Amino acid sequence: MPAMLQTVARTAEDAMPPLPSSDQVPGRVIVTIDGPAGTGKSSAARDLAARLGLEMLNTGQMYRAATALAIDAGIDLSEDNEKDPATITAVCALAQQADLHFDWSQRPPVLLVSGRPMIDRLTEPDVRRLVSKVSSIPHLRRHMERKQRLIAAQHPLLVTEGRDQGSVVFPDADVKFFLEATPREQAVRRARELEAKGEVVDLLTLEEEIRQRNFFDSTRPDSPLVCPSDAVVIDTDPLTLEQVVDRLERIVRERVPHLKSSHAAHPPHSKPPGA
Ligand code: C5P
Repeated sequence: MPAMLQTVARTAEDAMPPLPSSDQVPGRVIVTIDGPAGTGKSSAARDLAARLGLEMLNTGQMYRAATALAIDAGIDLSEDNEKDPATITAVCALAQQADLHFDWSQRPPVLLVSGRPMIDRLTEPDVRRLVSKVSSIPHLRRHMERKQRLIAAQHPLLVTEGRDQGSVVFPDADVKFFLEATPREQAVRRARELEAKGEVVDLLTLEEEIRQRNFFDSTRPDSPLVCPSDAVVIDTDPLTLEQVVDRLERIVRERVPHLKSSHAAHPPHSKPPGA
């Protein structure tokens, strides 16, 4: 098994920052949306957050940024080299030193790396190809998980999306969703996003890339993509984005009744979804 895939036992140092429960902080609302690539999680999270007056966290961007940093620093992530502990240490060190944070004044928040936005770089082909490998590094995951819990402590009205948000990072979330779609539909949606950014894409190649990424994400030993047992599963294939968000909104409002009165919807977003 490649070194990047080895599971590292969680230690006391890995303990995640505590998050007040909704009983302790009556206003706290954490909604998680997990699922494979191309199921529309980012768009759904963005629109759900806007409708409910919550903030949104795109955790895929954090792993994409770590990947872009490693590639741009010239770290050799080829199969021959990925077993090298020095490679893994270098990738983690870069991510830790990069002062990775979000500009929360923007909706959705914009990821800044060393103070600079990195959004276009995050969807480039080399980053897409290597992000699953980089995100399987256990020490990097512990770093990102801690960051995500700290973000939620500072932004306790949050819709957060990724692969492990309901299963690992926020097992105590108020509402958990898991979005599904067939691989072809996943590819079609991702193709639309990339084409909107001006990239020429081949649907079959994209579908294969997404299949491989989803397989890798689902079979890695550390925090694999799984559907949390207490998540609401939504098959998005027959639904438009608006219909998906309608469902998510209805379920959140049913389960978190105090949202009705206390949180006003944000104005429509001016930016397209990120990755
Ligand atoms: O959601 P997005 O497609 O941007 O995620 C890119 C990659 O980042 C995923 O394929 C996965 O390898 C990794 N990821 C993860 N855990 C998350 C979010 C993303 O491992 N919470």
